[in-house]
Amino acid sequence: MTARSIITIDGAAGTGKSSVAQLLAKRIGAGCLDSGAMYRAVAVLAKDYEIDPKDGPMLAAKVNDVGVSFNWNNDPPTVMLGGVDVSERIRELDISGIVSSVAKQPEVRAVLMNQQRIIASTHPLLVTEGRDQGSVVFPEAVVRFFLEADFEERTKRRTKQLLEAGKDVHPDVVAEDIKNRDRIDTTRSDGPLICAEGAVVINTSSQSLEEVVETMERIVRDAMKGS
Ligand code: C5P
Repeated sequence: MTARSIITIDGAAGTGKSSVAQLLAKRIGAGCLDSGAMYRAVAVLAKDYEIDPKDGPMLAAKVNDVGVSFNWNNDPPTVMLGGVDVSERIRELDISGIVSSVAKQPEVRAVLMNQQRIIASTHPLLVTEGRDQGSVVFPEAVVRFFLEADFEERTKRRTKQLLEAGKDVHPDVVAEDIKNRDRIDTTRSDGPLICAEGAVVINTSSQSLEEVVETMERIVRDAMKGS
């Protein structure tokens, strides 16, 4: 794994990270890692095995036991817990409701960070998105982006995403979920959501997906030429 081969995109929920990461990865021929999906899968484990979302050691042991992985043959890659595809389950609101408590546990972060680095080592070029990808997991990445957007816009986008996925949600419930996760994600001591020093900040509030990706692709290609 070299610094040339990794591009990180961090930011809060609803800033457009996932859509932007997938499109950017396609344009530059890279794999795309949704690190949030891994934390969500651990939240599913907590529910299914009735483990306290605050019990980091128990959750980490369960991750090692069952296994959180991706099936890279699918586009986007499907999320697997053991042999079970949980790609749809991880998007449910009950999982969103506990995922930040699970992600706050240092033992969980350590196990998943290790796996994220292993995944990176198996991809010649990788776009990875989350909260701590540029600040903690891959500080040597060739470009580290930090996406921002207004709260109203983030709520609107997240609500639209969930409705399109067939989930019956009210914008107020989505706003509450985002607010709650923002609070936990920004205040935790281990891998908090922060804009890493040297990160390229992009505000996506009033730009289309294509516009944002266009800008990012240009920055990435320039950086790769220069590195
Ligand atoms: O990206 P997404 O919103 O699906 O992430 C779900 C949750 O997973 C976040 O709210 C955060 O608590 C956690 N997460 C994290 N570190 C990452 C990615 C996600 O703590 N790198």
